[in-house]
Amino acid sequence: MKKLCCFLLALLLCCPAALAEDVQIVASFYPVYIFAQNILTDVPGVSLSCMTAPSTGCLHDYQLLTGDMRLLARADALLINGAGMESFLPALLPQLPDLQVVDASKGIELLCADEHHHDHDHHHEEEEETEYNAHIWLDPKNAIQMVKNMEAQLSALLPEHGEKMAENAENYILRLENLDARLSDALTAVKQRDIVTFHDSFPYFAKAYDLHVVAVVSMEPEEPLSPRMLKDVIDQVTAAGNPPLFAEPQYRNAALEAISRETGAPVYRLDPVVTGNGSPTAYEDAMEQNLNILLSALGE
Ligand SMILES: [Zn+2]
Repeated sequence: MKKLCCFLLALLLCCPAALAEDVQIVASFYPVYIFAQNILTDVPGVSLSCMTAPSTGCLHDYQLLTGDMRLLARADALLINGAGMESFLPALLPQLPDLQVVDASKGIELLCADEHHHDHDHHHEEEEETEYNAHIWLDPKNAIQMVKNMEAQLSALLPEHGEKMAENAENYILRLENLDARLSDALTAVKQRDIVTFHDSFPYFAKAYDLHVVAVVSMEPEEPLSPRMLKDVIDQVTAAGNPPLFAEPQYRNAALEAISRETGAPVYRLDPVVTGNGSPTAYEDAMEQNLNILLSALGE
C-alpha cells in the first residue's frame, strides 16, 4: 500500500511536466517536412510531424481525412508550401481559426499553372482566378527562400528557440547553395535542353537551369489521359524532335511509355521529391540523383 501511495505521489509530482506537452508543429507534405526537420534539428520541446504519409506525393486535390483534422486541432502551427498546393486550406481555416499557418512561399515569384496546357476543351471563365504552379521547391533557390520564410515565422512563434533555428537554417542554406552551384555548373554544359515531363512539376527547376519543358504528359496526373490528349502530346514530342521523356516514381507512367513507343523518345525518371525516406538530406539526395539522370539523358 505504501509503495502504491509513493507511486501515486510520484505520478502527481511528475504530472505538471508530463502534461506540458511539446509544441506541435505539423508540415502539410513531404518537401515542407524535410525543410522543417533541418530548421528544427535539436530544438528542444518541439515535435514535428508530417500530416500526409510520405507516400502521398503532391497534394493536388488532396481531401483532408478525419485523422488530419484531429492532428491539426492539436497543432500549434501548420507549415504549408503555399502557392495553392494546399487547396484544402480555404475550407479548413474557418474551422480552426486559432491555427497558426506558416506559409513557405512568401515572396517567391510564381509561374502560372497552365503555361503548357494542352486540353483544348477547357475554356477559361474570364473572371477565373489565376492559378499558379505550386512546385516551387524544385528550384533550390526557392527552397532556400522557403527555409528562410519558415525560419522567420517559426522564430516569431517560438522566440526562445530563435537562435538555434537561425543557426540550423544557416547551415542548411549553405548545403542548398552548394547543391544549386553543383546543378548549375553541371547543367550549363549539356547539349540538349528540351525535356518532356510526366506532370507539371518541373517548370521552376527548368527555369533555374535553362532547360525547356516542351510538353507535359498529364496536367492532371491522377486522371487517365484521353486518346485526344495522348495524340496532342505525341504531336508536341514529335514536333520537338523526340527529346527525352521523364517519368516520375510517384505515378503510373503508362501514357509516357505509349508516347515513347510511338515516337522513339527515350524514357528516364525524374523525382519531384514528394515521397521518400524522410531523412534530413532527402531533398539534396534526390536532387543529386536527378542531376545524374539529367546528365545521362541530355548528354554532357
Ligand atoms: Zn505535383
